[in-house]
Amino acid sequence: MDFLNSIRQRLPFNLGFMQLSQLSMLAVTLIEVSLFIFRTDIVDRQNRPKDIGPRLLDSYDFVVIGGGSSGAVMASRLSEISRWKVLLLEAGPGETVFSDVPALAGGNVRTERDWQIDAEYDPGYCRAMTGGRCYFPQGKLLGGNSVLNGMVYVRGNRRDYDSWAAQGNEGWSYDDVLPYFKKSEGMTIQGYRNSPYHGTEGPLTVEVPRFYAPVTDRLVRAADELGIPTNIDINGDSQTALVRSQCTMRNGFRCSTAKAFLRPTDTNRQDNEEGYRCGVR
Ligand SMILES: Cc1cc2nc3c(=O)[nH]c(=O)nc-3n(C[C@H](O)[C@H](O)[C@H](O)COP(=O)(O)OP(=O)(O)OC[C@H]3O[C@@H](n4cnc5c(N)ncnc54)[C@H](O)[C@@H]3O)c2cc1C
Repeated sequence: MDFLNSIRQRLPFNLGFMQLSQLSMLAVTLIEVSLFIFRTDIVDRQNRPKDIGPRLLDSYDFVVIGGGSSGAVMASRLSEISRWKVLLLEAGPGETVFSDVPALAGGNVRTERDWQIDAEYDPGYCRAMTGGRCYFPQGKLLGGNSVLNGMVYVRGNRRDYDSWAAQGNEGWSYDDVLPYFKKSEGMTIQGYRNSPYHGTEGPLTVEVPRFYAPVTDRLVRAADELGIPTNIDINGDSQTALVRSQCTMRNGFRCSTAKAFLRPTDTNRQDNEEGYRCGVR
């Protein structure tokens, strides 16, 4: 609000009659219109998954419920088999153009694209919050929480996977799952593109953010002074370090799973009137 007030004071004409809420609506509309006109790459109208509405087939081979981080991947992978009919059911709407802009992702919180959940009361946490309950944003849209999250790309730790495998879960050791991490990943960070831990051909683009808060350098220097590693691959041999994040971003914009896995990347899987296999309803 302070930001909007300062804009209002700097404008060469008088907006005194406008409420702040109206001013923010105007600002949002102007940004949205500008994006639609000048950034058709962000709007990406052709490639966004389409709601198939009432056009359901009589039967499907697979129905995936929830088009969030994991559901989008499931639907995409299943639809690689061209004879399988896959229906993806998502409770919420699609992404907005704002969700692409990392700094504006919070705009989905407390809207229809958020389940708007308050954590249960517990005396052990959220004690400073009203009623002792934290607000807990949860994406209710295509891409799910991958549209609301902090985009930090850190895989689970090798020891967790290996302990699951040791408990009898065949196929869950880190060496077993690594090929799938690599298959899904489109690593763009130069130093890691030839690493045995990374893949470069997958749809989930990973890059270094283009902007860091100024305090980052100081934190990294402080960690250096304490002897904490600051220049390692956080998805490599060791994960104990203080490093600049690898992020699920593409060209500086958020790369949600809806963008990575549900927008067609090859012509065989283009959505069309006759042959779509992965509908969203
Ligand atoms: C604010 C925030 C920041 C985070 N930051 C990071 C981060 O930086 N890095 C990281 O790795 N992780 C982060 N996470 C965690 C990560 O985003 C989640 O763990 C992950 O997205 C969960 O994926 P999921 O597929 O299990 O669920 P979701 O992505 O939540 O997907 C579930 C989907 O199912 C849909 N759905 C639910 N019920 C139904 C129904 N009955 N019918 C149809 N559809 C339904 C929902 O609408 C939703 O789209 C963050 C999470 C939050 C909330």
